Amino acid sequence: METKDIQMVTEEIPSSIVQFAVVDQVLNLCRVNSFWPVTFGIACCAIEMMATGCARFDMSRLGAEVFRPSPRQADLMIVAGTITKKAQPWIKTLYDQMPEPKWVMALGNCAISGGPFAFEGQYNIVLGADVFLPVDVYVPGCPPRPEGLLQGIIELEHKVSGWKRWKDPEKEAITG
Ligand code: SF4
Repeated sequence: METKDIQMVTEEIPSSIVQFAVVDQVLNLCRVNSFWPVTFGIACCAIEMMATGCARFDMSRLGAEVFRPSPRQADLMIVAGTITKKAQPWIKTLYDQMPEPKWVMALGNCAISGGPFAFEGQYNIVLGADVFLPVDVYVPGCPPRPEGLLQGIIELEHKVSGWKRWKDPEKEAITG
């Protein structure tokens, strides 16, 4: 299947048909404190993702440690690794099988822009997950450290709910 055959997801899908501002705020707060990532990895960055799930980094502090074996039970796709053109269709299928609302993290330089494989004449690598998925948060690095993934989850929490787990120390210093 050609890259151009896989449609970019652009439409905004509401989290529910009937919208209640306060209820949605509470629901979003619950969602961001219990992201359920789908279990899949593509390349070396997936090793860092696995390390993040181990006791040393304690992903459960953020409530995001429950990796689901089925996309139908997951609301977060962590694209961890190099996206080959051969893998692109099944990654898109996994994403499509996840129920709304759902979010995407591009973990590592390969998932952001093709990483070290983005050179002239390469023919087999997709230049970033955002070519065919609506990426919400980007975590750079080759590979990114587990702390980077945790920071990405914290940024996603803020993006989805407007809530910040910790105050921004730099902003605090400026405003006093
Ligand atoms: S960004 Fe680096 S570590 Fe991650 S998948 Fe690509 S080559 Fe591997």
